[in-house]
Parts: sequence; C-alpha cells; structure tokens
Amino acid sequence: MGRRVFFIGVVAGRMFGMNTKTAPELDQLPRTRFADLPTAIERMDKLEAALSAELERPVPELWVKRDDQTGLAFGGNKTRKLEFLIADAVAQGARCVITAGAAQSNHCRQTAAAAVKVGLDCHLVLVGQKPEKSNGNLLLDELLGAKVHWCTREERPALMESLNKQLEEAGENPYLIPVGGSNEIGSVGYVVAMQEMMGKLGVFGERPTHIVFPTGSGGTQVGLVVGAKLCGYEGKIIGVNVSKGSGEGPTFEEQMAEIALKTAKRIGSEDTFTADDFIVNQNYLGVGYGVVTDAEREAISLLAKTEGLFVCPVYTGRAMAGLLDMVRSGELTADDKVVFWHTGGGPALFAYRDELNV
Ligand SMILES: *Cc1c(COP(=O)(O)O)cnc(C)c1O
Repeated sequence: MGRRVFFIGVVAGRMFGMNTKTAPELDQLPRTRFADLPTAIERMDKLEAALSAELERPVPELWVKRDDQTGLAFGGNKTRKLEFLIADAVAQGARCVITAGAAQSNHCRQTAAAAVKVGLDCHLVLVGQKPEKSNGNLLLDELLGAKVHWCTREERPALMESLNKQLEEAGENPYLIPVGGSNEIGSVGYVVAMQEMMGKLGVFGERPTHIVFPTGSGGTQVGLVVGAKLCGYEGKIIGVNVSKGSGEGPTFEEQMAEIALKTAKRIGSEDTFTADDFIVNQNYLGVGYGVVTDAEREAISLLAKTEGLFVCPVYTGRAMAGLLDMVRSGELTADDKVVFWHTGGGPALFAYRDELNV
C-alpha cells in the first residue's frame, strides 16, 4: 500500500501547494490532552470594516486563531505546550512541578491548572511582592492551590535551585518547567498547532500570507516555525516582541534557532534552523514588558468594541497594536491575508484595571 498512498499524497500535496514532510516521532511523544482542539478560526470582518472606514481604503483580510479558547482554566497558548510538558513530567514519575514567571503570568496559571488535572503539586516562583489583594492570574493561581514563592529577578535562579533541591530531598521528584514552557518539549505543542491550522485550508481558500502573534519566551514562535517547515508553509511568521532581552549572550533569534533544532530532533524531523528563520518585530516594545501604553489601550478597546474580543495588556494587546500599526502604515496591504494568532491573556485584564483608563 505504501507507495500508492505516498503517490496520492504527493499529488494532493502538489494540488494544494503543499510540501508536507514527516516527523515520525511526533505521534509517539507522551501527551496529556488538556486543550479543546482544534481552536476556532474566525474572520474579524467588523474590525476590517472599522479600519477600512478609518483609512478610506481596503485593508487586508484579518483572521483570528482562537487559542485564547484552548479551554483549560480560561485558556491560552501555554495549554498546548503543557500537553507535552506535563505528560513528560508524569512519564518521569514527578510528584510536583516547579515553574516561574511574572506575578500575572498566564503560563503559571495554566501550569497550576494542568498540574491539578493530573494530581501534581505546583510550585510557582513569581517575581515581585505578594500584593495585599490578589487579582487576575494570581488570584486564579491561589484558587488552583499553587504554592507561590516570591522573589526578585536576581534571586530567581538561586531560589529555583534551592526549591528544587529541597523538594528532591523530600522525595517529591520535582519536574522543572522553564519560564513560558519554552523548551523543545513545550514547543512541540505549537508544531502540532501549525499542522492544525494548515489543515484548515478550506477555511481560508488559500494560505494566509502572514501570521502575527506576541512572542515572549519564544516557544510559541519556535513551534510555529518548525511546524511551518514541516507543512511547507512559506508565509511570514511575525513574532511581535513584548519583552526586552538582557542584551547579553546569543540574540533572541539565535536562542529560538537553538530550541528549534532540538524540537526538530525530538519529533524526528531532519529540518535545520538558523536565526534567519525567525522574524522578530521589535517596534512595539514600548517601555518594556507589561508596561501599558496608549497603543495597548487602543487595541484592547478597539477589539472589544468591534469584535467582542478581549486582548490583554501584556501580550495580545501589544501584538494587536503592532498589527493595527502595520495595517495603518500600509506595511500590510489589501492583498494580504493575515492571521492574528490569539495567545490568550484575558485574565490579566482584571489585574491591570487601573492602567486601562476605563
Ligand atoms: C506566554 C504568552 C505569550 C508568549 O508566548 P511564548 O511562547 O512565551 O513566546 C503570548 N501571549 C500570551 C497571552 C502568553 O501568556
């Protein structure tokens, strides 16, 4: 049978302009299902109409991939990564997980929920100070029963190490999940996500010319880029950077290339990657991570009022502000078909209420 199926596959692939390659290990990797998949893809026609009226010219087709609706504990992009990370933790016999982030980390909230689902304890190392009243993601972390450890950015590596050691000695066999779940295990979730989207050719008619989304720790972008090579997708994958790097060591693109190589290896793909495979747009960083400006405020308000859709102050609001600017400046044209990959973050809105000026 093999040859014939292969032949039909090749012919179908040519017809649809695909150049699909295989990743033989992908289906063998341990995976725990947390997400409600596939997530929806919707056309943002009211947003298109508003922009077109404002600019008095046609604008690109604007679509949204609803990974804010992955389903676990208010959803978001980390759920896809956690399907592979938590399954690996369980396979290794862990009794608890440790991860880290900002006080309003969506990653920490989704990790805490995923841990609950499989009966693991969850330790969160958060940068900042315990607020008098918790809100947003932190409130949810607490409701989920996560054990929160506060520290400064400088203290974080040492605290994670000592916590790890302490839990090891207590026989808890802790499993360490990096910030944002961005390693070759978590990124596999976005390889699968890219395959999921490219399988939806019927929705778009033809493939999108651009995919735009916020990039922070890089695992989402890594997965999308690795998945794109597998699917033969040649459109632009633009990560809108939301946080300034340290300015030392390898560049963000180089770091992502490194994780991409490891991710490809993990799924049995022979693709290789360099920094050139990664497009990072640095134009919308503003003052830095999590500092809300008028650009995010406008994006949050416009999306709510045109589409009934919430983007967040830290990630998706910033990336959407970038997308709006690319449309207004003419960088994206009426010939383009753009997918905004909505990575979630809605729960942070509540914690930023004073910054939103509503
Ligand atoms: C973590 C996060 C991102 C960034 O994803 P990375 O894989 O860390 O680059 C984007 N949006 C939201 C809402 C997030 O929580």
